[in-house]
Amino acid sequence: MEEKKTQTVCPYAKKCGGCQYQGVPYSAQLKKKQNQVQGLLKKFGNVKPVIGMKDPYFYRNKVHAVFDRDRKGNIISGIYEAGTHRVVSIEQCLIEDEKSQEIIRTIRGMLKSFKIKTYDEDTGYGLLRHVLVRRGFSTGEVMVVLVVASPIFPSKNNFVKALRKVHPEISTVVLNINDKNTSMVLGEREIVLYGKGFIRDTLCGKSFRISPKSFYQVNSVQTEILYGKAVEFAGLTGKEKVIDAYCGIGTIGLVASGKAREVVGVELNKDAVRDARINARENKVVNISFRQGDAGEFMEAMAEAGEKADVVFMDPPRSGSSEKFLNSVIKLSPKKIVYISCNPETLARDLNFLTRKNYIVKEIQPVEMFCFTDHTEVVTWLEQK
Ligand code: SAH
Repeated sequence: MEEKKTQTVCPYAKKCGGCQYQGVPYSAQLKKKQNQVQGLLKKFGNVKPVIGMKDPYFYRNKVHAVFDRDRKGNIISGIYEAGTHRVVSIEQCLIEDEKSQEIIRTIRGMLKSFKIKTYDEDTGYGLLRHVLVRRGFSTGEVMVVLVVASPIFPSKNNFVKALRKVHPEISTVVLNINDKNTSMVLGEREIVLYGKGFIRDTLCGKSFRISPKSFYQVNSVQTEILYGKAVEFAGLTGKEKVIDAYCGIGTIGLVASGKAREVVGVELNKDAVRDARINARENKVVNISFRQGDAGEFMEAMAEAGEKADVVFMDPPRSGSSEKFLNSVIKLSPKKIVYISCNPETLARDLNFLTRKNYIVKEIQPVEMFCFTDHTEVVTWLEQK
């Protein structure tokens, strides 16, 4: 039954290019991922079977739509065609949260009566560029971010009222001003139109505040499994000094904090660090602190000051870690490193570095976070020799 359903091919798959495994039965997708990870990482140790999802649909808690007009002038919303800036109109995506998609369709239907023009990338005319919706899967809180080319949004109060009338579940609406000719979705400036300007979600028993620009794992169901594995691998006893590098809004460090002596998180994004500090306070966690800056520089400064760490969690972006970071990790000499990676290729490169120094790989656990795409998340446990 399940297998049959998974073979329904998304009609936009080719143009969108977001889901490389559309049409591939889910069990076969997992096999492909397992083979890919094994090919890249088996030289470091045994690769555990990937932990898949029970229901691989509509899992993305963050939904992004570009707004445009088609040739006939009709308002459309969807995604950029792979490798271009042409917008493909999308009615339904099979991996994005259904409620969030409904909200985007409602907004699309409201634009005409509110006389809101979509932004034209070529001419620079028009207002609405993108809509971003984030939903806290456990709290039900919903954030709508309207990305606009200028801060003047006509009848904004009535717009919010009308939108919330159809979707009372919306807890906050934020205007994000992006007046640059850029492929970045979000601009710097934000104006809160309704609510608090952020949403909350809970993961592993902790509550997290998420701002529009902060990173938050897109697959909430699997994130609990991922973090659970990461904390299990760290084998904390309550005595350790722990570093949570590339910490985002502080999720991993906060989840681990109850089992550690002290946690220090480091993160580049200012909004994420602000969220992380508030998250610590609101969860009444007192043994954690956060630094804003480049993780490599922070680690280098720690190493130069002669400081040590017992456990390092590291969760870098797809590009992986830096040499500065890895060299400093060696100097800080943690007994354990737990490396959470969303790109097995850069993970292999960084494991190569670490295993040539003083570390051995104890366990490699792939966790499915991105069903229907060829992306794979892997959590690796390393121990000092
Ligand atoms: N551990 C977090 C975030 C992981 S995503 C979680 O599970 O939610 C990677 C994070 O690294 C992002 O928040 C990004 O802003 C941050 N980042 C990217 N480059 C960085 C750098 N050079 N130094 C510190 N943080 C960085």
